[in-house]
Amino acid sequence: MITHEQCLYWDQEDELKKFKDEFALPNNVIYLDGNSLGARPKKSLEVAQHIISKEWGEDLINSWNKADWWGLPTRLGDKVAQLIGAEKGEVVISDSTTLNLFKVLSAAVKIQAEKFPERKVIVAEKDAFPTDIYIIEGFIDLINQGYQVELIDGADDLSHVLAKDVAVVVLSHVNYRTGYFYDMESINQQIHDKDALIIWDLCHSVGAVPMDLNQSNSDFAIGCTYKYLNGGPGSPALLWVNRNHRDEFWQPLSGWWGHKKPFDMAQHYEPANSIRRYLCGTQPIISMSLIECGIDIFLQADMQQIREKSLKLTDLFIQLVQQECPQFGFELITPVNHKYRGSHVSYRHEFGYEIIQALIARGVIGDYREPEVLRFGITPLYLGFEDIWNAVQQLKQIMLNSEWKNERYLVRSEVT
Ligand SMILES: *Cc1c(COP(=O)(O)O)cnc(C)c1O
Repeated sequence: MITHEQCLYWDQEDELKKFKDEFALPNNVIYLDGNSLGARPKKSLEVAQHIISKEWGEDLINSWNKADWWGLPTRLGDKVAQLIGAEKGEVVISDSTTLNLFKVLSAAVKIQAEKFPERKVIVAEKDAFPTDIYIIEGFIDLINQGYQVELIDGADDLSHVLAKDVAVVVLSHVNYRTGYFYDMESINQQIHDKDALIIWDLCHSVGAVPMDLNQSNSDFAIGCTYKYLNGGPGSPALLWVNRNHRDEFWQPLSGWWGHKKPFDMAQHYEPANSIRRYLCGTQPIISMSLIECGIDIFLQADMQQIREKSLKLTDLFIQLVQQECPQFGFELITPVNHKYRGSHVSYRHEFGYEIIQALIARGVIGDYREPEVLRFGITPLYLGFEDIWNAVQQLKQIMLNSEWKNERYLVRSEVT
């Protein structure tokens, strides 16, 4: 039996609790959606003000040099690199995850086509975040060279599909819906044994779990900065390429920011001899600059410690739902085994949508994903053990009082 007092004690002992003060969160809200839109680092307001009034307002175009706006994609990339097991010069921040997938997929397919022209299968998960599948479909259609997408159910399906002529595999390191967490190293091994290449989508894992892209011998990675990294709504995404592949190919969105000498204004494209070849055009500088506030907080913390606390909090959430709400039909779809669990907890429930709306009305912000999935993101830098206790108590009240049956919770907004 877990008690409220026990949760208060864990909070007292928590070495990461000081980081909560770095974030601006409204009172009376328990924010369990940092895996969808991270909370705002307090410092971001001051930084935004500086960029808008000083760098833009006063220094105007000089800021491309003076404030090094031009260098932001790689300067921030070098910082993010420290969180994902990459080296300096291997990561850029730019565009969106969706666009970055298009770039690295093009590169990966091109590299494979030169070595293994008969390989025409691109593998993704059925349960992938849909944009990944949409981009693969769009790419296949565009190049029109007989590629096919093959959708798998999960890790267990991989060996079976790898018996075919697979060129590239695209996987989410942590699944956005279930929270399933792939073992990067063993999956890479399995894929490389069959001469295929791997693209990791890190959207739900960067800032949530430790990883080492180089040591695990990954090929390509992309991911969001506005989720666990707290970069701000729509902040540009990360893109990493293994050094062995970097110069093998450039990507087809060959805009001037990726050119070897952009300011020569040359008539023809020549890719930069660096990760900058994965850039495309002018970036949203204000939004991009704010990413640094979140990353700097992560760089003061220890990813291993974050992971340990994340597992304690997700364990607590799962145990408390079992203890306090056993009769209400919540079906856990997140792996119980730590090895396969990311940093969010998901349940299936027939009235998931309505229950989430009722929770939000009580200040507990989680989210709903089709079909019937309630999703609770756990962000150890700004959540404590008592927060989890309180969230589950609110859930219990909503179920005991059938609050979710209120008809206003049936109305669906455009964004769920
Ligand atoms: C959030 C998310 C995306 C979103 O991509 P955007 O281009 O930022 O809209 C892509 N893939 C996964 C796995 C995600 O969780």
